[in-house]
Amino acid sequence: MKIDSQVKKKKYGLFSMTFYVFALGMKKRPFLLPSLAFFFLFMGIATTGKTFLKQMLFEAVGDLAEGRTSASLVAGYGVIMALIPIFFAAMNAVSTWIDQTFYGVTRGYMGERLNEKAAKVDPLVYEDNRFLDQVNKAYVGLEAVGEVVCSILHIMMEQCVYLVSMILYLYLVKPQLLFAFLLSLIPTAVSASLRRRMHAAKEHKAAPYRRKYEYFNRCFCSREYVKETRLWRAEGFFKKLYYRNLSEYARLDWETHRKSTLIDLGLKILQMAGYVGTVILLFYYVFRGELGIGIFAAVFTSLDDLDGRVSALFGSEIGTINTRFGQAQNYFDFLQLPERAGQDRLPLRRERIELRDVSFTYPGSEKPALSHVDLTIQKGETIAIVGVNGSGKSTLTRLLTGLYLPTSGQILIDGKDVSEIAPQTLYEDVSAVFQRYQSYKMTVAENVQISETEKTAGPDGSESKLPRISGTESKLTRISGAGIGLAERQKDGADPSGMVRSDVEKALEEADFPLENDKLTEGLETMLGKDFGGIDLSGGQWQRLAIARGLYRAHDMIVLDEPTAAIDPLEEARIYHKFAEISRGKTALIVTHRLGSAQIADRIIVMDGGHIVDLGTHEELMQREGKYREMYLAQAKWYQ
Ligand code: ADP
Ligand code: MG
Repeated sequence: MKIDSQVKKKKYGLFSMTFYVFALGMKKRPFLLPSLAFFFLFMGIATTGKTFLKQMLFEAVGDLAEGRTSASLVAGYGVIMALIPIFFAAMNAVSTWIDQTFYGVTRGYMGERLNEKAAKVDPLVYEDNRFLDQVNKAYVGLEAVGEVVCSILHIMMEQCVYLVSMILYLYLVKPQLLFAFLLSLIPTAVSASLRRRMHAAKEHKAAPYRRKYEYFNRCFCSREYVKETRLWRAEGFFKKLYYRNLSEYARLDWETHRKSTLIDLGLKILQMAGYVGTVILLFYYVFRGELGIGIFAAVFTSLDDLDGRVSALFGSEIGTINTRFGQAQNYFDFLQLPERAGQDRLPLRRERIELRDVSFTYPGSEKPALSHVDLTIQKGETIAIVGVNGSGKSTLTRLLTGLYLPTSGQILIDGKDVSEIAPQTLYEDVSAVFQRYQSYKMTVAENVQISETEKTAGPDGSESKLPRISGTESKLTRISGAGIGLAERQKDGADPSGMVRSDVEKALEEADFPLENDKLTEGLETMLGKDFGGIDLSGGQWQRLAIARGLYRAHDMIVLDEPTAAIDPLEEARIYHKFAEISRGKTALIVTHRLGSAQIADRIIVMDGGHIVDLGTHEELMQREGKYREMYLAQAKWYQ
């Protein structure tokens, strides 16, 4: 599996990134981008227009004083000037609204592409830390893309148009004036750039301290830590660490502020000189009669405006592009990760799964987790996989389900190589409960029904809205089918007692989940997990719920990979018994290190150190003086 640096990717530059977002925006909402561009452009020109209007007003006032014009003209200009702030406020509101709609729409679609991609990359890459990092960076990048493109559009359409039209205005008024004025703007631009760079450098240096103090803060006041912290009376310990890091952060912060303020002050003095120079020039031309008093007043009152604009342009706007551009690229890098290549979309019958000399090594790992495994499983068999921790049981189930492709050797389902089967078809009829299953912060019913995500067409006609996937959650979400297929469970709700039960209740009962529980005040609709105000369950209850989820999903093949650690051995044996009954006629893989539960299987695979060391029925294995018998006798006391 190739990830990250091994794959040649197209690097997105500012231009291609902007083009990508614009093209997406134009495709989804053809009117938004042009109207946004128009508004920005208009605002840029209107700001210069304001200066021009001021000139007209002041000139009219001068004329009025000399009796050369009527009072009503001056009053007219006055009214227009008074209305301008209102007009600008309204225009600002409209452009902000279009701006947010545009980025909301494009961000939505870009997020969807990211989610789809996260669901399509080979599940194996989630075992690689570097990849998990990439996922996070891509989500941060998604936000950054919007900000970068927004800044570019803003600079291009508004700031530049304003500056250019203002420069043109000044040039037409008096070229010398323009020169002096540009000189006064340089310190502003330099100061804004310098400050931005200093703060970026500080952020780089100080970020580790910030992450640390935030972490230590969590240690003494967040839910997951608070019990241990209280018990150990470790508040003082964490507080000390917290303050140590916080003060280091504050020190760096203060140092940067001090330096940048001093630089700023120095440059302000320079700027002041330029400013004063411009004003003196203005006076000079007025006294020589080369400039009217109207122009003098208009330019004079617009100096602050211009200064603010230049400062914003070189400070925050270019700053955003500088700091966020690298992050934005991560988004595009992620979209270019390779996907599983299988193309065959024919439905699988899974009559026969065959492993031929299969070996498997995890990315970044030296030692193979499975070595030279040969195995054939027929449809309808119940197979138990036993062995000590780390012997390769979970890895074997991941290969048998097609989730991971072998590093060497071949896996055939109905004679077809797994790597040729499209991932969408591969998991369609598979259900699984993994060792590290998820406890979803949703209602009881939703926790069971999660695999029933229907194929809802995305707004752009794409296949489905996939849930955001990260880390370990991906395996489960993928194989239990959320976002991949619809669990077409037959609606045979009536049981022999005549009571009508929902499929959800049935699955819960089959998994021995206690529905008559006082805590479940709203029955199936009870919210679970403290995060959103729900109730918490015990470890055993969460496990039963996970098993119910696995049973609920329509399947031809099901995997139970030791989701029973918090359930005692006898209870586990009972659940597995029931499980075998339910899955009669279907292929079932049960993984356990408790051999009492394995007896229900048609065949038992004994694993050790990544090898299949024995294979047979319980009786056959007991007759051999092997590992199985040894383990079984050692555990026999659990079942007495
Ligand atoms: P079991 O389920 O029998 O406990 P596993 O299949 O989980 O065993 O693990 C088999 C071997 O592969 C172990 O040596 C384990 O350390 C290694 N392994 C499991 N998962 C990973 C992973 N994500 N990355 C690297 N090594 C792994
Ligand atoms: Mg395991």
